[in-house]
Amino acid sequence: MVVYLCISFVPLIFFFNTIMISIRDYFQTDREKKLLNAVNIIAPTITKANYFSHLGDESKRQMMDSDIADFSAQGSYRILVLDNYGMVLNDSNNAEVGRTKIIPEVINALERENAIKTHTAEQTVYAAAPIENEASEIVGAVLVVSSIEDIFVSVSEIEQKLIMYTAITTIVMGVLGFAVPQVLIDPLSSIVSVVQKMSDGHLDQRIKISGRDEYAKLGHAFNDMAEKLEKVDNTRQEFVSNVSHELKTPLSSIKVLSESILLQNDAPLLMYREFLRDINSEVDRMTRVVTDLLQLVKLDQGELGLNIQTTNINRMVSDILKRLGPLAERKEIKLIFEDVREVVIEADEMKITSTISNLLDNAVKYTPNGGTVKTTVDADHQNAFITVSDTGIGIKEEDQGKIFDRFYRVDKTRDRETGGTGLGLAITYSTVRLHHGSIRVISKENEGSLFIVRLPIHYSRNA
Ligand code: ADP
Repeated sequence: MVVYLCISFVPLIFFFNTIMISIRDYFQTDREKKLLNAVNIIAPTITKANYFSHLGDESKRQMMDSDIADFSAQGSYRILVLDNYGMVLNDSNNAEVGRTKIIPEVINALERENAIKTHTAEQTVYAAAPIENEASEIVGAVLVVSSIEDIFVSVSEIEQKLIMYTAITTIVMGVLGFAVPQVLIDPLSSIVSVVQKMSDGHLDQRIKISGRDEYAKLGHAFNDMAEKLEKVDNTRQEFVSNVSHELKTPLSSIKVLSESILLQNDAPLLMYREFLRDINSEVDRMTRVVTDLLQLVKLDQGELGLNIQTTNINRMVSDILKRLGPLAERKEIKLIFEDVREVVIEADEMKITSTISNLLDNAVKYTPNGGTVKTTVDADHQNAFITVSDTGIGIKEEDQGKIFDRFYRVDKTRDRETGGTGLGLAITYSTVRLHHGSIRVISKENEGSLFIVRLPIHYSRNA
């Protein structure tokens, strides 16, 4: 506000002053010029009329005095005729006849110098010119005195008007100076207060938006960002609570199992063995969760963790199927491999192997005895396509979007019993995304599922 007022008022005051001075100067110079003209006409007239030689002749003198009075009346100024001693011989005001009036203008005129001067304090202009005799000698001077009070009155009228306009401008500027910052700063302060609250940890804060100006756009952008931040924060909290839960369940089992053995004084060896086997499998379970979590953390670090090499997909799938063979055989599940062509891509072989492995493990796991699991490998000139289909339990439509989330299991108790951590598909999803590929699922409950993985043949880091 102070800056605004300084910027507006300082030039205004300068402007105001300059205008007033210029106006007064203009009128004064104009009056001076007029007076100088007049004195330069009156002086030669008196010179011509031989005023000084006829001073003794009363009738001639009266005629000349009346001429001077006429001049004075015409020009509305006072005329004084002085001799070269400065004595007033004629005064159109009759005030100073017989007195000596030695003022600088008269002295200047008697010395043939320029004799014009404005006396601001007296509000008068003095102009004088010499009077000569027939021999061109200076015998006296004419002094013309004009009041410039009228100029002062006019200028003060203008000044009053200007003061009025300035006052109006001041009020308008004051109102604007007060209102504009309110309009500009108010929305900003509300944004700042929300940002401060958010940085104090209150992520549920939102900016109230009105209008459609730049502030509203900023508000919308900020609210979107806040929403994402809150989501990330919720996901993080959910993740931590999921991890704790996943680890707590096996820990509780271990605690119960070990305590029951400890409390029994002479428990049979068979019981020891059985409980220790259970404890061992719970430890395995925890190890699986921790291994999967570490793998996810590594994937979260981004592309830098990838070890890209030439990878033969057909060979990879064959190897996985070979490993899965015994389990499938036990469940009498038919494993079919349909490789349309040889597909070689640039990828992190280990990570892609665990991705496809996970899809095939799931397919076998979630397919009842006697079912079929089919894998296909194909490619076009840009991408490799790997599909894994089964004739298993399928996934309900509403769950299909969530199975790639961390710790998401369709059937919490049963899926846990199958030994899954709920992290497998999350790892698969992150790995495929890191390779700039995609994964999607088509599934129908009780009929089976089809997972389609697309991976670019050539890996480029900035894709
Ligand atoms: P899990 O280790 O429990 O298998 P995943 O992340 O691999 O975890 O899978 C998440 C969930 O998706 C599973 O718990 C299961 O409910 C469902 N799912 C995954 N694959 C299949 C499939 N082929 N058929 C049916 N359900 C599946």
